[in-house]
Amino acid sequence: MAEAKLIDGKAFAARLRARVGEGVADLVGHGNAKPGLATILVGADPASEVYVRSKGKTAAELGMASFDHRLPAETTEAELLALIAKLNADRTVNGILVQLPLPKHIDTPKVLLAVDPNKDVDGFHPINVGRLGSIAAGAPLDFPVPCTPLGCSMLLADALGSLAGRHAVIVGRSTLVGRPVAQLLLRADCTVTVTHSRTRDLPAVCRAADILVVAIGKPEFVRGDWIKPGAAVIDVGINRVPAEGGKTRLVGDVAFAEAKAVAGHLTPVPGGVGPMTVACLMYNTLQEARRAAGLPFAAI
Ligand code: NAP
Repeated sequence: MAEAKLIDGKAFAARLRARVGEGVADLVGHGNAKPGLATILVGADPASEVYVRSKGKTAAELGMASFDHRLPAETTEAELLALIAKLNADRTVNGILVQLPLPKHIDTPKVLLAVDPNKDVDGFHPINVGRLGSIAAGAPLDFPVPCTPLGCSMLLADALGSLAGRHAVIVGRSTLVGRPVAQLLLRADCTVTVTHSRTRDLPAVCRAADILVVAIGKPEFVRGDWIKPGAAVIDVGINRVPAEGGKTRLVGDVAFAEAKAVAGHLTPVPGGVGPMTVACLMYNTLQEARRAAGLPFAAI
């Protein structure tokens, strides 16, 4: 059997960013304000700082206005809520991103609830969670959808075309990844099984999958003999593991070399799902700027 075709998320994300950039230019060319993305980082978590910087930089590259709010770790919940209220009312801001995790003294659900659902470009507000949870098959995604799951579904549709009738097994049921991926694949007419740490005989459940999406945060957990020959495998995991010479390297949640010998399509780590997250954030921000300008969502 031939080796899996690698799904090049880096190239797909670059094309998506370019299309968003064209959408921004078109919007501004028709006399509208630049889309604006506000990022909020509380505290100085190094990984979060890297993410927030890359989001602001990409927004600026695509012609958007980027507003970077850095707050000290001791910021109170009331102060954070006051900033969100200010950004909700600010017409130059179309997207508000509160970088998670927040410090422990801040009630995260309360903060996510405070963001205007139409500026919730991460798709975490309960209204947007509910919109995705109740969407009809094939209905337009005309509201913000969580970025990493949206990226997974875009890569699958690009690699496979119609997903209708395929059996999708999702490994992991987090609200950030597993559950929204399941909703998106139901919308695409897949038959969806969601698995988790209490699932019995996970390898057997995975072997029934035409599409296997893995998001558990355990390095190379899913083995080659868990994969049905020819299946499409989307590896969302990002795990740093020790490498030769005292260095480290990134691996996914799927044993890559084993999966490559069995799967039909496979996302590498890095360079698969990872780059899609920021590209989809830009996509969501453009869509919300279009909404604010009275324009319909555009399938770009
Ligand atoms: P999470 O919130 O920790 O959720 C992990 C899920 O995996 C849980 O539902 C858990 O089950 C399940 N799980 C854990 N061990 C398992 C096992 N042995 N068998 C079956 N299921 C198991 O993680 P997450 O936020 O979804 O992230 C998952 C991975 O994706 C991480 O590596 C993360 O870094 C990566 N990620 C990447 C991106 C990106 O590419 N941009 C974005 C987000 C996340 P229970 O519910 O039963 O505990």
